[in-house]
Amino acid sequence: MRGRFAGWLAGWRLWRLPSPVRTYVLLVNVLAVGASVSTAWLVPVSRTDLLRFGVLAVCAAAAIEATRHIERQREYNRAPAVAYVDTKAVWSIAAVVALPAVLATAMVVFTYAVAWWRIWPRERPVLAHRWIFSAASVLCGTQAAVAVLALGMHQYPGILAPGFLPGLSDLAVIVFAAGLRWAINTALVMAAIALSNPPQSFSDLFSGFGDQLLEAGAIGLGMVTAALLVLANPLVLAGVVIALVALHRGLLLSQFQRDARTDVTTGLATKRWWRTVAEQYLERARAGQGTVGVLLLDLDHFKTINDTYGHPTGDLVLREIAIALRGQVRDEDVCGRWGGEEFAIVLPNVPSEEHLGQLADRIRCRVPEVTVSLPDRDSVISDLTVSIGCALYPADHLSSVDELLVASDSALYRAKQAGRNRVEVATR
Ligand code: GH3
Ligand code: MG
Ligand code: MG
Repeated sequence: MRGRFAGWLAGWRLWRLPSPVRTYVLLVNVLAVGASVSTAWLVPVSRTDLLRFGVLAVCAAAAIEATRHIERQREYNRAPAVAYVDTKAVWSIAAVVALPAVLATAMVVFTYAVAWWRIWPRERPVLAHRWIFSAASVLCGTQAAVAVLALGMHQYPGILAPGFLPGLSDLAVIVFAAGLRWAINTALVMAAIALSNPPQSFSDLFSGFGDQLLEAGAIGLGMVTAALLVLANPLVLAGVVIALVALHRGLLLSQFQRDARTDVTTGLATKRWWRTVAEQYLERARAGQGTVGVLLLDLDHFKTINDTYGHPTGDLVLREIAIALRGQVRDEDVCGRWGGEEFAIVLPNVPSEEHLGQLADRIRCRVPEVTVSLPDRDSVISDLTVSIGCALYPADHLSSVDELLVASDSALYRAKQAGRNRVEVATR
């Protein structure tokens, strides 16, 4: 048993993270444990508290179970590097308001453990360190909320004091505590993301507005849940579970709209969305005498990756390449998945063909640095190469997106013919 545990622990991807990220992750974990232990003795736990904890835990487990397929899809479809938002906060907010700190801590640990266990059954070992880090960052925020509530509430733990003004002041304290919890949690997660993918733009770190709304909704529902837990028959909480599941369905709908623009495997623009953006850029360039650059990229000998490691691993490689591509271009440059292992990038306002060629060459040099580690083997895929064809509007015979694409494609063909791992610029 000891040996199996050690093997499981040794298999974590955490140990293969770059050392600044690893140090940071371990530091946050230690901080979370320290903070949780120091608030644990704040208030004694009564039998009623334990019963209420049990009711909350049952509801939380039911909600996670009922939404786990949706959550899996959301997690899979999100852009590679955005902070992931979900509704587990409902239960831990309710716990932090209505129960002693040690049970609030237990609720965070419980919900994260259930979600980890149920949402990603096959990826459990590989993802363990990520779930632990997420729980740790929520725990740090939770303990800060405990401090605010203990200092500010008329009665802690407890819900709003009776009377308008005392109630209002308690409400303000709860909202502030929940906001602080969210801010600390988000900051800790974003710092981790920024550390592991340095060339991110700030706006990339935030998921859509809908997701932030979801988080706010979860906080609001958490406050209501706390009140119901203390005041009402616990069976009323079934209503909260139903509301949460319904909220998730609504969320998936907007996810589908976003999916129409986003390629599932890579998180890049779909061919269709890429074209729409390219047409817009060209239109703008025509009107304002600007320029538009197009790059077409095709990975070299990608078939051998699939043949050696299998198609799913090939998809992982494509995803990592996609992240690298986005790291090399500006916010307004749009990277799309053009076909199987082909990518297209459209870049407005490139000063000259030389600039375009230099940028393409920078991308060409970045691709071999992309590494994908294989969890079940002790090996790493790297040293891929790419061939790139580029074209710049305006030029003779290049006046539409189609013509730009044809020109880039024949440049790409020349790059392949000339031995691959090369950049060719469309000849005038
Ligand atoms: P080269 O471009 O250098 O001529 O060689 P290549 O082996 O990359 O050939 P090609 O560009 O024709 O690539 C097609 C291969 O890409 C075939 C297939 O194995 C792989 N491929 C296409 N689409 C996908 C995909 O969605 N996922 C994965 N994993 N592989 C794909
Ligand atoms: Mg190809
Ligand atoms: Mg290829």
